[in-house]
Amino acid sequence: MKQVITIKNVRKEYQNGGVNTEVIKGVSLDINKGEFVSIMGPSGSGKSTLLYLMGGLENCTEGTIEINGKPIEKMNDTDESKMRRKDIGFVFQFFNLIPHLTVEENIILPIIIDGGKPKKYKDQLDKLLNLVGLTDKRHSKPSQLSGGQQQRVAIARALINDPEIILADEPIGNLDSKTGETIMNLFRRINLEEGKTIIQVTHSEESAAYGNRIVNVLDGLLV
Ligand code: ADP
Ligand code: MG
Repeated sequence: MKQVITIKNVRKEYQNGGVNTEVIKGVSLDINKGEFVSIMGPSGSGKSTLLYLMGGLENCTEGTIEINGKPIEKMNDTDESKMRRKDIGFVFQFFNLIPHLTVEENIILPIIIDGGKPKKYKDQLDKLLNLVGLTDKRHSKPSQLSGGQQQRVAIARALINDPEIILADEPIGNLDSKTGETIMNLFRRINLEEGKTIIQVTHSEESAAYGNRIVNVLDGLLV
């Protein structure tokens, strides 16, 4: 089985005003290609931090994280930002869409930021709009969409570079339970039909159950 993420003895401390707080206290975890992993734990247990470490959005204080066998801390800045854009797609609780851009402009944004040619991605864009069921909303602005629709835009945006891994931080934390179910079913399809490795963070048992493995975090440790 191919390991896409390898976490070895990771510790993370945040420094604030000269005070160090240890938030991840020694975590090792392997994630295989094609898994749908739910990282579950109460608020403040370190779930988001662990996810950000996996995506290179935060640096480990100690230990290593490898993406496809490459330690993040050994990557130079170019390789690391390339890894973050090409190998990983991020989905957040509050969607993080750009309000003045349309649905399709939001989805294609990572390509534009990269200096790519949006035209080259037209087929991928059409495919993703269809996958998330928003073909008829492609010219709408985020404010004209429901929360669930906005999160579907964010999911399509996370997939535009066809990454192998999707990291999702409480992706239904801001949605009602019915809409949340729709979004979790979409993640399940993306896992099964598109073969993406998905790691979601959640404090809810119900949404954790969509994963095929649940990893429990408590106070910075796996339990
Ligand atoms: P969770 O996602 O499980 O709620 P987090 O990873 O967000 O947990 O936070 C874990 C702990 O780290 C919390 O006590 C939080 O206050 C603290 N923390 C998170 N981010 C920072 C930061 N940038 N600086 C200092 N402390 C932080
Ligand atoms: Mg969190």
